[in-house]
Amino acid sequence: MPASPTKLELDEGNRLRITWNAGQLREYTFRELRDACPCATCREKRNAPTASPLQLPIISAAEAQPLRITGMKPVGNYAYSIEFSDGHNTGIYTLETLRQLGQEVAR
Ligand SMILES: [Zn+2]
Repeated sequence: MPASPTKLELDEGNRLRITWNAGQLREYTFRELRDACPCATCREKRNAPTASPLQLPIISAAEAQPLRITGMKPVGNYAYSIEFSDGHNTGIYTLETLRQLGQEVAR
């Protein structure tokens, strides 16, 4: 049986917890998920050459706020789309990706 979530929970305001059908529980920080965003724009940004040490990135007002997950919904039966408080919502996280991110926690 392929791994699929049986329960999604937001915990302590900065973590997502997913219970998987295999009985595993994994915990993800919002930042980790946001930094791993698989959309084309974010992939391109991550692969961009390192910024000049004489420059600081420009951080928008939304980015300066504490990051939160504002929505998460299934895409077919193979992925989730996650919406973040910085307005970014184009990332489609496959279940396989979600199984690789985060940390397993004891139940
Ligand atoms: Zn993205």
